Amino acid sequence: MDYYSVREIEGKQAHDPLFTHKMSNNKSSSSLRRCVCVRGPVIVGAGPSGLAVAACLKEKGLQSVLLERSNCIASLWQLKTYDRLRLHLPKQFCELPLMGFPCDFPTYPTKQQFICYLVSYAERYGIKPRFNETVKEAEFDSTLGFWRVRSESKTGTTTEYVCQWLVVATGENAEAVMPKIEGAEEFGGPIKHTSLYKSGEELRGKKVLVVGCGNSGMEVCLDLCNHNASPSLVVRDAVHVLPREVLGKSTFGLSMWLLKWLPIRLVDRFLLVVSWLLLGDTARLGLVRPGVGPLQLKNLSGKTPVLDVGTLSKIKSGHIQVCPGVKRLKHRTVEFVDGTTQNFDAIIFATGYKSNVPSWLQEGDMFCEEDGFPRRPFPNSWKGENGLYAVGFTKRGILGASMDAKRIAQDIEQCRKSEAKQSTAFTRSLWQQQSNS
Ligand SMILES: Cc1cc2nc3c(=O)[nH]c(=O)nc-3n(C[C@H](O)[C@H](O)[C@H](O)COP(=O)(O)OP(=O)(O)OC[C@H]3O[C@@H](n4cnc5c(N)ncnc54)[C@H](O)[C@@H]3O)c2cc1C
Repeated sequence: MDYYSVREIEGKQAHDPLFTHKMSNNKSSSSLRRCVCVRGPVIVGAGPSGLAVAACLKEKGLQSVLLERSNCIASLWQLKTYDRLRLHLPKQFCELPLMGFPCDFPTYPTKQQFICYLVSYAERYGIKPRFNETVKEAEFDSTLGFWRVRSESKTGTTTEYVCQWLVVATGENAEAVMPKIEGAEEFGGPIKHTSLYKSGEELRGKKVLVVGCGNSGMEVCLDLCNHNASPSLVVRDAVHVLPREVLGKSTFGLSMWLLKWLPIRLVDRFLLVVSWLLLGDTARLGLVRPGVGPLQLKNLSGKTPVLDVGTLSKIKSGHIQVCPGVKRLKHRTVEFVDGTTQNFDAIIFATGYKSNVPSWLQEGDMFCEEDGFPRRPFPNSWKGENGLYAVGFTKRGILGASMDAKRIAQDIEQCRKSEAKQSTAFTRSLWQQQSNS
């Protein structure tokens, strides 16, 4: 790892009035133990995005320090996803830069296969994240011209990393979103987020309410059916459900191909006709389509269409019931907004995730305080000021993250090269001055 743990720097900084002043203003100064000066970038988050940046940098001969709050790479995939999960998109759209999936992987790799791919990726590029280090604060020190990144380990050790470049790779899914529902404490049965759901096995024979009809909510319902539970799905908003494949071709791949020739409006129309032919009128099942087409909606709001993996046929056959929004909970009972009530044994919230960037990054320009996403939309979301970068905030999954990662590594490499040129020119002029005098 290309950093030097600088006791020496700590010593120098102790005599730097500016530095000591800053530290004494810092609430957690008493717990600060180490200061590490990093030559390359610091990357926060060792998910697919962070790994992709580290690998692209490594390929250019640049080292980085990768900080990860959990004890493994790709913690979302390893620790917070259900067992039956497969990639939603075909593997060619989920590859990280520089290394493809093994040829013998299926079109839609399983979660375990995807994790194996990521582990081999990290091994191939010698990426060794510093695990169990949660970044609590990061701020650009305009006097020093460096970023100060403060992390806390599980044992309570605080480390400050000082670096020229900071890459935010904490993901769009950093924290689970759990809506507050009146009466939740009265319910009495298990209530959990999909990030804690593993398999329908644990709910066999139970009546389960799944709140949220995105890809996860739909798939969890199917999993519950397959384990002989009785799921009901809360559908509050309009949603586009598309077949995962059309005539053996992935709907996503087909859409990307059509977009090369046709305007988005026409591709949307094509998708809606095909969906109607293959899935029927979803509104009759309680899944009303939004007024805007699926691709346009994705572009406007980031809302991903649901790719059906078999849930619709379970709704058609009555194995999954569709319900309106939840009004309040009582003991083992759910009251819906239309006034009806039903008994349930458990509730699963498939209500998504949110970015956690505003909780730790002290910066007002690049990231929006409200949603923790870069203010500038794709494809310009990856670069901020003062050596700040964002990877994986494009609402375009791993494909978007890979594009970001390549651009970031290229930008840092260019910056390094132009700095090297400047310092060579500076040294040359010093030599010249010396030889002239
Ligand atoms: C169920 C599900 C299925 C999906 N399927 C697909 C798919 O098929 N194809 C696709 O392209 N995308 C899919 N996605 C989207 C997917 O989340 C991303 O494509 C991918 O995981 C994003 O990688 P990431 O590295 O940006 O974020 P993450 O995978 O979330 O990784 C971020 C990492 O940052 C760490 N972290 C967060 N905060 C801190 C902090 N303060 N300090 C230190 N570390 C921190 C986290 O622990 C985590 O390990 C899916 C998402 C979900 C939830």
